[in-house]
Amino acid sequence: MCPSPKPGPNHVRHLIEHLRELSNNPPHPDEIDSFKSYDLPPELQEFADAERYLHGDGFTFAKLTGIHQNQLPELKHMTDAECTVLFDEIHRLLTYFAYEFVFPDNLPVELKYEALKKEWLEPHPYIGPGTNGIIGVEFCSYEPKECPWPAKYCTCHFDD
Ligand SMILES: [Zn+2]
Repeated sequence: MCPSPKPGPNHVRHLIEHLRELSNNPPHPDEIDSFKSYDLPPELQEFADAERYLHGDGFTFAKLTGIHQNQLPELKHMTDAECTVLFDEIHRLLTYFAYEFVFPDNLPVELKYEALKKEWLEPHPYIGPGTNGIIGVEFCSYEPKECPWPAKYCTCHFDD
């Protein structure tokens, strides 16, 4: 991983290079999970994703990417363009890793980036690329009082 946690264009560029390398060489879930799909009986092999979802370990995005939370720059240390590119790269990689993030339409990229950064240390099952499964990651539980988004963006506020 990047030797320097210092903010700046080089730091963002290093992060992006690292994310792209990872997408070419993603960890196989069986390598890192204590749940091993090859231990399943043959009749359950086709449900390996679901079994892993239920019985596998939780992994943080920090662990899966090898990027510490504090290596993700603060917004004030990035230009808008850097934030957009960095968010897109992280989002692309995690989507490839079978995560599906539920963001409100029209939510500014800075808020999406901050939400991902906050989520960075939360454990999620990891089923890896190349499966049919999806791990949904939601930020709003449709309880307006607890909604993390400004009211003008999230539909949970629209039915009052
Ligand atoms: Zn909401």
